[in-house]
Amino acid sequence: MRKECSIVRDLLPLTVEGLASEDTQAFVRAHLQTCPACRQAAEEAGSSADTPLPTPEAPLKSLRRTLRLKRLQTVFLTALSVLAVAVTFFSAVSAPQYFPYSPALLSVTAGGDGSVTVEFDRCVTGISCQAGAEPDSGTPVYFLQAWTSDWDTHFADRTPRQTLISAVDGQTPRVFYSQNNGQEDVLICGTNGTYDGVQSLPRLTPGYLLLMAAAGFVLLLLLRVFLRRRTTLCRWLDRLLPLPAAYGLGHLCVMGTSTVTYSMQRNFSLILLLTLLFWAITLAGLYLLRLRREINGKF
Ligand SMILES: [Zn+2]
Repeated sequence: MRKECSIVRDLLPLTVEGLASEDTQAFVRAHLQTCPACRQAAEEAGSSADTPLPTPEAPLKSLRRTLRLKRLQTVFLTALSVLAVAVTFFSAVSAPQYFPYSPALLSVTAGGDGSVTVEFDRCVTGISCQAGAEPDSGTPVYFLQAWTSDWDTHFADRTPRQTLISAVDGQTPRVFYSQNNGQEDVLICGTNGTYDGVQSLPRLTPGYLLLMAAAGFVLLLLLRVFLRRRTTLCRWLDRLLPLPAAYGLGHLCVMGTSTVTYSMQRNFSLILLLTLLFWAITLAGLYLLRLRREINGKF
C-alpha cells in the first residue's frame, strides 16, 4: 500500500463521521478520485468519493466541539485579562520615585587607589550608575540616581545600597547625582573637569512612540478602507488594526498621560508587555464573538 493510501485509510473514519476539517476532507476526496482501492474502502465505510456521508450525529459532534472551543477560549480570555490587570497594578506600585539630593541621602568614601564607594541611606531601594564622558576631553564621568517605590517600601530588603566606582587614570572619578526632578545634577566627588551645571533630562521617546502608534493606526485604517474588496488582505488588516490601539492603551496604563520619562527602559518593557496582552485579548475576544455567532447559527 502506498504511503498516501495508508494515511487516507487512517483518516477515513474521521471523514465518514464528519469530524475531519475541511482541508482533510478535500485531501481525502481528491485521493479517492485517483485511487480505486481506497474508494472501495471508503464505500465500505459508508462514504463515497464525492460526498462523505455525514452520520446523523455529526452536526451534534461539531456543535459540541465548538462549545468546547468556546469554553477554552473564555478561560484563555479571562486569564489574559487578569494578567493585564496584574501587570498594570504592578507597574503602578513599582514606579520609581526618585530622591532629590540631600547630604543625608548618601555618603562618599574614598579608597586608597582613587576609587570611591557611594553608600546610600536605607530609604533608597534602587540605584543605577550611568557612565558618560566630558564633552571636551572625553574623560569618563558618572551619573548616579536613587529611588524607591510603593512596592519596595513594603517588600524590598533594607540593606543599604552601595556602589563602587573605580579611579579614572589614578584620579578620583567625577560623579554626579541626578535628581531627575528638573533640577541640576549635584557633583558628589571629583573636582577638575569642565562638565558643570548639567541637568539630567527626561527621555522624550515615549511621546514619539505614541505618535508613531497613532500614525500606524491611521495608516492601517486607510489601507483597510482602500482595500476593502481584497478579503484575504482585509482579514490580516483587521488583525493588525488593534495593535497600535493596544500600544496606546499600554502607554496609558504605564505612564498615564505623560509622554516623557526618566525610566525609559522599565516603562518601555512594561508598555510592550501590556501591548501584547491587550492585542491578544482583542483577538481572542473577536474569535469568541465569532464562535458565539456560529453556535447561535446552529440552533
Ligand atoms: Zn489509495
